[in-house]
This record gives sequence, C-alpha cells and structure tokens, in this order.
Amino acid sequence: MKLRQLEITLQKLAGFSSPRAVLEQYPTPAPLAARLLYHASLHGDIEGKAVCDLGSGTGVLAIGAALLGAARVTGIEIDEHAVITAQENAASVMADVEFFTLDVREPSATSRIGTCDTVIMNPPFGAQQVHADRPFIDLALRTAPVTYGIFNAGSRQFIETYTYPRAEIDEVIGGFLPIKRTFSFHTKDVQEIEVEILRLIQT
Ligand code: SAH
Repeated sequence: MKLRQLEITLQKLAGFSSPRAVLEQYPTPAPLAARLLYHASLHGDIEGKAVCDLGSGTGVLAIGAALLGAARVTGIEIDEHAVITAQENAASVMADVEFFTLDVREPSATSRIGTCDTVIMNPPFGAQQVHADRPFIDLALRTAPVTYGIFNAGSRQFIETYTYPRAEIDEVIGGFLPIKRTFSFHTKDVQEIEVEILRLIQT
C-alpha cells in the first residue's frame, strides 16, 4: 500500500467518542501516523513482523501496521470504550489486529503482551499526569528491540538520559500534531504541537 493510500484509509477511521483529558486521548492524525509507519516500514520493522501498539486508542497506528503487512499486531489500551472503537475501525478496513484492555503500568503487562519485534506508540506526553510517558517507554523496552514513539519536540535529550543504558536513539523525525479543540481548557480551534518521532533501539 502506498503512503497516500495508507493516509486516505487511516483518515476514515473513527476517533474517540468521549475523549478523556486525563488519559490524553488525542488520536494521531493520519498524515503523522502514516509517516511513522512508513519510516518503520522502510527500516524493515513492519512487514512480516510482530508489532505492538502501546496505548492504542482508537487504533490508527496498529491498523496502519496491519495494512502494511505486519504478521501479527497487538494493541493494548486502558480505556475499554476506545478498545471497542478500535475493533470496529479494524473491521471496517479489514485489518487483522488484536486489541485488548490493559494498563501499561500493570506488572503483568509484559507477560500478557509477550514479545514483539517492533513497538509503535503515541503515549501521553505527561501534560495531565507528570511522567505518564515513562511506563510506556519502560514497557516498550521490555517488549521489543525497536520502538517508534511520538513525543513532544525537544524530548530527545530527556528520553536519551532516561533510557540510558537500556537503549539509544538512532533516528529523529520531526512532525506536527494538530490538536483539535477537544477539552474545555483548549483555547484555540486547532493547536499545532511540534512533535518528534524517535526510533529507539535496545543496546
Ligand atoms: N495510539 C492512539 C492513541 C494516542 S492517545 C493513536 O495514535 O491515535 C494516548 C492513548 O494512551 C489514549 O488512548 C489513552 O487512553 C492511552 N493510555 C493512557 N494511559 C494509559 C495506560 N496507563 N495504559 C494503557 N493505555 C493508556
């Protein structure tokens, strides 16, 4: 599937029906999701691979990975309503993904998801709950040798320090995350947030 085609397909997926601010439920916009997935694909990290999406929300990243030929895709998400939407989204584009409800902070999370070749994720940035991204990073590094994550622009230094000596960052891809007015504390119709996609490899 070509990049443009992937973007068009992901664009059609449903978002959160009643988004929860505390969980930072912002769906990854199709162009940014397609960009992450394409980079991962060019590295050989998607096709034929076992891919895990941590905090899969309504499923855009996981579904994209399945459409790009992943052998097995698992999405885990704390919010059971989002899991249902993700399952409906996957069915609507005939993508084969297993979504289930699980908190990344659960000690049993590692054994429940098993190991994967590649983790993809757009974790909470920690705007609502400080350090909310840390359990995602920790679980990602326990789960797969390669992780692609979307973070606030400028996070590289922190992530590098936080993950040393477990992992290193070998690629940084810039991008924008347009956030539509969703919660009462949002003052603009659309707020563009600068983000970076980091590729983390286990050392
Ligand atoms: N991956 C989706 C959603 C990104 S928003 C996408 O790219 O569109 C971040 C997601 O992380 C939300 O769906 C939120 O519910 C989920 N989340 C937040 N805390 C979590 C936790 N502790 N365990 C699992 N999922 C969590």
